[in-house]
Amino acid sequence: MSKALIIGEVKNGEISKVTLEIASRAKELDMELSAIVFGTNPETAATIGSSGVGHVFYSDTVEYNGEIIASVISEVVKKGGFDTVLLPHSWMGRDIGGRIGALLDSAVISDIVELTADGNKLVAKKPVYAGKAYAKITHKKGIRIFTVRPNVFEVVDSKVDAKTEKVEADFSKSRSKLVEFKETQGAKIGLTEAKIIVAGGRGIKGPEYFPVLQELADMLGAALGASRATVDAGWINHSHQVGQTGKTVSPLLYIAVGISGAIQHLAGMGSSKYIVAVNKDPEAPIFKVATYGIVDDLFNIVPVLKDAIKKIKG
Ligand SMILES: Cc1cc2nc3c(=O)[nH]c(=O)nc-3n(C[C@H](O)[C@H](O)[C@H](O)COP(=O)(O)OP(=O)(O)OC[C@H]3O[C@@H](n4cnc5c(N)ncnc54)[C@H](O)[C@@H]3O)c2cc1C
Repeated sequence: MSKALIIGEVKNGEISKVTLEIASRAKELDMELSAIVFGTNPETAATIGSSGVGHVFYSDTVEYNGEIIASVISEVVKKGGFDTVLLPHSWMGRDIGGRIGALLDSAVISDIVELTADGNKLVAKKPVYAGKAYAKITHKKGIRIFTVRPNVFEVVDSKVDAKTEKVEADFSKSRSKLVEFKETQGAKIGLTEAKIIVAGGRGIKGPEYFPVLQELADMLGAALGASRATVDAGWINHSHQVGQTGKTVSPLLYIAVGISGAIQHLAGMGSSKYIVAVNKDPEAPIFKVATYGIVDDLFNIVPVLKDAIKKIKG
């Protein structure tokens, strides 16, 4: 049986959803699961047990330092005899994944959207060429390290009572220091973990329409996304940009309003489960990936959508 270590994340004092998604998939693949979480207490750490993780290492340090965290994780991997390491493909996972790979002399397969077993091998699927194609990749040797895109696996309840174990992290040895951590301004709901995203493109004609889309997003409990054209035009902050040079998202529902669907935009949202596109041009490339397409003027359709949602919500 494969022994996997999941690198968990804490968000707003709770274990993040993507951590539980990863644990749930690993459990389905019949792995023996442990996790390690930094910046938390044993009670919170133990809640990963809800997705079948039996042993959780934790550190209550509040400081973030990728260099030290990666070296602590690498020691835990070596001592615990883990053959697989799974991390979220978040800023933390990107920072730490490569460092662990170097420390363990192992390859990292990043931003995976599927993980299956083929005998003793683990086969990961990941988008390549800016989302134009998918590659299936497996490790030939070493520890198998994967970073996993949020929202691609379901959280499955398979509760076990997790044992917790404290690990020490000595930050004084670090060659770098985190000076400041600044939350992105303006984003009400984080794009990368959002279940629903409403995104606007150049078709909205100007910055004054983003608040209208924000209202639609609020009604749906959604995050607000944007194309690069609108960000470059200064209509909205870059933190909202979806695509090759923005955020990669994988929500259940992506509503693209006045977005043409350039390949660089699709690279960031093409793995969304359902895509609804509103565009007045029937030839717009976004319709090639859309589950449902509305060919009409967005300034007519958005108010209709809002009214319909209001009615459904009573
Ligand atoms: C290296 C590189 C990286 C890039 N990275 C990104 C990235 O990360 N994210 C990204 O988004 N782009 C990225 N781009 C830019 C990308 O190529 C496109 O230029 C951009 O996505 C276009 O944005 P858009 O769809 O909002 O605008 P447009 O392509 O101008 O499309 C606007 C759409 O709105 C429709 N429309 C207009 N009026 C209405 C109306 N009244 N009602 C309904 N529909 C209407 C039009 O039919 C059109 O399809 C990148 C480009 C390069 C070269």
